[in-house]
Amino acid sequence: MATAPRNLLSYVDPQPDSPWLTYLAQVDRVLPYLGELARWGETLKRPKRALIVDVPIEMDDGTVRHFEGFRVQHNLSRGPGKGGVRFHPQVTLEEVMALSAWMTIKNAAVGLPYGGAKGGIRVDPGQLSRKELERMTRRYTSEIGIIIGPQQDIPAPDVNTNAQIMAWMMDTYSMNIGGTATGVVTGKPIPLGGSLGRVKATGRGVFVTGREAARRIGLELAGARIAVQGFGNVGSTAAELFAEAGAKIVAVQDHSGSVMHEGGLDVAALQLHVHAHGGVAGFGEAIADDAFWQVPCDILIPAALEGQMTEARARTTTAKLMLEGANGPTLPIADDVLAERGVLVVPDVLCNAGGVTVSYFEWVQDFSSFFWSEDEINARLDRIMVNAFEQIWGTAERLRISLRTAAFVVACERVLMARAERGLYP
Ligand code: NAD
Repeated sequence: MATAPRNLLSYVDPQPDSPWLTYLAQVDRVLPYLGELARWGETLKRPKRALIVDVPIEMDDGTVRHFEGFRVQHNLSRGPGKGGVRFHPQVTLEEVMALSAWMTIKNAAVGLPYGGAKGGIRVDPGQLSRKELERMTRRYTSEIGIIIGPQQDIPAPDVNTNAQIMAWMMDTYSMNIGGTATGVVTGKPIPLGGSLGRVKATGRGVFVTGREAARRIGLELAGARIAVQGFGNVGSTAAELFAEAGAKIVAVQDHSGSVMHEGGLDVAALQLHVHAHGGVAGFGEAIADDAFWQVPCDILIPAALEGQMTEARARTTTAKLMLEGANGPTLPIADDVLAERGVLVVPDVLCNAGGVTVSYFEWVQDFSSFFWSEDEINARLDRIMVNAFEQIWGTAERLRISLRTAAFVVACERVLMARAERGLYP
């Protein structure tokens, strides 16, 4: 019996609200603004390349376990692939595809000379010993080694991965090629060619774009009430910088629970608590997870996982400004509700681009083997984020569209122009 022809997209079976469908809906909103370039629009809807790898490792008790790993290169028109690696029990090909596509858009929106890529392993890293984690990271790196490289595709940290994981990835890749390739990953420890300022870069970018957005809607940061979902790298840094600017962090939610304090949580003490106990639970006043979304606030920062801002939450939030620290936290339907209700959304592809921007600085420093001071890095980061914000804000005003659609317009024009100029091979 004849079977229907399959293409890459038919290997995933997107569920409603899946991040890949969210991304496709975002692209469809942009195509009408792209004029002649829309001819190349299909390019944006298909990942260029997707690799699925088996990652077998020997556990400490002598048994062998297999994990599934992915690396997707969504688009390489403007430069090498760039995007993080996520270790999480819910990682799927479809999720990695969406995250890689958002990297294409993000890198182009900010003007970095990269395409978009992303990787991940479906695993709960909390269940592995340090040695098991190292073996898994090394085997995964070796498996995806056929498509990554300083000029091909440069991974970086994402959810549940950090500088140590990047060090193992860099070492494994280097061993396999018989040299030292510092530029193969970013987010490395400083002694291995990491950049100053990288750890806090994403949260700093959230702060910079939030500061710019707040200024435009006349919202004073001093005294502003902020709720933050996710208190990891991105959420905790953003909270710290906003608190330094005089804002009050009134509620925080992470995987362990939700806490609030009307007068503002002590961010430094909360960071110490999370470091000691692995989550925010047990600090301050506990509230139900659903109640987190109802806590009165001026600014909401989702900085955990995708799909958190649902239609129902969008209808009831009191925030005037939402800063997407996480990738893909808002469902398209919720986007419409927030727009109707006059909530300004600074989209992920702009808001959380600080991390990849300093990753770019790290890659450039590694190539030149000349390292910049932290002040220099933060000043350059501020400048790039403010420029990108102004450009996207201007596009949104000119075309009377949301900041998200404007960021996609700016980015898709750049990607498709590169596509058109390079031409179709062969
Ligand atoms: P992280 O692992 O440091 O922190 C993740 C946080 O999310 C933790 O506080 C965790 O408890 C919380 N969390 C997990 N599951 C949750 C749930 N079900 N409900 C509530 N909270 C939950 O990760 P991170 O690096 O801070 O990344 C957070 C988000 O920011 C992700 O969407 C990631 O893709 C995005 N991002 C990260 C970077 C970066 O440089 N780290 C850059 C751009 C975007």
